[in-house]
This record gives sequence, structure tokens and C-alpha cells, in this order.
Amino acid sequence: MILRLRIGTPSEVVSELRTLIEGQGLRTFLSPEPARPIVAIVDHASADLVDQLAARPEVEQAVVPRGEWRLVDRAFREGPTSVNVGAVCVGAGESVVIAGPCSVEGRDLILEGARICRDAGAHILRGGAFKPRTSPYAFQGLGREGLTQLKDAGESVGLPVISEIMDATQVSAFKECDIDCLQVGARNMQNFTLLKAIAAAGRPVLLKRGLSATVAEWLAAAEYLAAHGSEQIILCERGIRTFETATRNTLDLTVLPLLRQWTHLPILVDPSHAAGIPELVAPLSRAAIAAGADGVAVEVHPRPDQARSDGAQALLPGELTRVVAECRVVGAVLGRAFHAQPQPKRAAALAP
Ligand code: PEP
Ligand code: MN
Repeated sequence: MILRLRIGTPSEVVSELRTLIEGQGLRTFLSPEPARPIVAIVDHASADLVDQLAARPEVEQAVVPRGEWRLVDRAFREGPTSVNVGAVCVGAGESVVIAGPCSVEGRDLILEGARICRDAGAHILRGGAFKPRTSPYAFQGLGREGLTQLKDAGESVGLPVISEIMDATQVSAFKECDIDCLQVGARNMQNFTLLKAIAAAGRPVLLKRGLSATVAEWLAAAEYLAAHGSEQIILCERGIRTFETATRNTLDLTVLPLLRQWTHLPILVDPSHAAGIPELVAPLSRAAIAAGADGVAVEVHPRPDQARSDGAQALLPGELTRVVAECRVVGAVLGRAFHAQPQPKRAAALAP
């Protein structure tokens, strides 16, 4: 139950209301919304209590959430939220592009990839250091050393960085290496222990949709993050498993307009893992922006045939330039601005 109070309700009245609800053994959360007090009751409220609360003069609207989420529900905020990843704001009405190789493969290669991303106009550098691989014999990533190399490459070109975290014990490494955004991969979307640990880390989180997760399960996973203290959550649609085998997964663009109604969180689309085919990444990126995505996350590699993971779906550098340019054009048609590229702090490191 979400109680949207009247604008201008005094804070003492809000406190009294919360005390009344909590006196019944129910937990409440107050929205960080500056414009209007909004109180979420996260535990089950009886029908009698709901009627009683809805009738109070300070309550303008009592909203029953659609599922197991409250804090990420659209009704818990006045408008969409935005998340700062370094100097890049995701969800503020400007399209952003996350790009980089699937994995960090070495210092020189990630620096080469970082320069490709910067030169193409991307905003955030990606690269996996802890890789979830189907085969235990496949490249598992460089681990902590990969995080260090990713961060150094990002700093060299002035881009914030994102990398996948697979285990709660890795949180300290991500913090020590100053990784700007923690990615929860599709395989870990419902790893609740991991979600709780990450929420406490106080860093932005990109929560990918699980391989077979419904929208309700995905938002419930996001609610785990919010309930444990994270207000910086980005959703990322990356394709779901269907009967279709012509593509790696099936990109579900339906979620974009749907999630706009259900949640205030920003939403990105990853067409690389959805399609698994580089030629489909540009058209699907265009479609994602047209359907309302806050941006896209794509994989790129200087030499995809030599990549140690997901080379078959990686864009070539020139193809990334095209994706970025097309996202800008499609967004502009819909009145969306394109995020300015962050400026490097260490100008000297920008030599080619
Ligand atoms: C990735 O981003 O490299 C990745 C493994 O993605 P997903 O979790 O969507 O499969
Ligand atoms: Mn990948």
C-alpha cells in the first residue's frame, strides 16, 4: 500500500501517520520525493486499515501495488528517477550508451577498447572481470586485476565504468577499485543474498532481467535492492528465453512502455546479449530508443574474432560509432537529448 499525501502536508502529520501505522506492527518507508510526502507500507495491511487510512484528510490517494514491490513502484515518486554513474546521469531524459568488451582481457586491450568507446561517443565503459560462463572450462575473467585494469582504462579516457559482480564476497573489491556501477547479471537477478549485500554497498546498480524472469519477478528483485537501502537502481532488459533459437534470446521491448507505467526506475536495453548477432544490434538499438529506453548497453571489441568471450556478438569499432549516431538521431525525433560525453580528468592521458 502506498499513501500519496496531499502536497504541503506538514512533517508532524506525516510522522503521526507513520507512528499510527507502525503501531499496528507494519513497516513504513518515506519517499525521498521533495514535492509530496509519500508513505509506503511494505507489510500487508488489512482491508479495514486500508479503508481507515484512505479516509484520512491528509491522504490524497491510496495505491495498491500490482505485485511484491512498493519502493520501486511508479506511485512512490512523482516522476522518473535518475541515477548518477560517475558524471553520467541515467534516466534524466537524455539517452546514454554503455559500451565495451564482454570481458576485460588485459591492460592494453581494455585501453584500446576504452578509446574506441570514447571516440565513438559512448558514455560509460563496460567490461567483465568476473564472468558467468556456461562452461567451467571457458575464460572466467581476470578477477580483481580485471577491475583495476577497467578502472584505469576508464580514467584514461574519462569514462565511468561498470562491471558484473557475481558474489557478495566481491563487494569490497568493487569498492576498493572504485567501480562506478555494479552490474547484476541475468543469472543472478534472483540471488537475494547478493542483492542485499550490493544494496548496502551504496553504489549504483544495473539490474539485468533474468533469463526467464517475469516483469513482476524483476521488479521484486529491484525491490530487494531498494528495501535494503539502494536508491540508485537501473533496470536492463537483455532478452528472455523463448522457443525461438534463431537469436540468442528474444528482445522484449514490450517492457519499455509497460515499465514506464509500473516503476519510476530508469530502463536500459542490451541488444547484444538479446540478439547474439552483431548485425541486429544497430536496428534493435534504434528500436529500443524509439520505444522509450533511457539508453543502450552494447558489446564492442577491436578484433571480435580474437575475443575471449562473446566475440560472435561484438560490434566492430565503426559499427559502434553508427549505433551511437543512430541512437542520437532516433532520440532527437522523439525530443530526447543525447547525454554529453563526460570530460576526462587527466587530459594528459588522452594521447592516442
Ligand atoms: C554480460 O553483460 O556480459 C552478461 C553476461 O550479460 P547477461 O547477464 O545479460 O547475460
Ligand atoms: Mn557478454
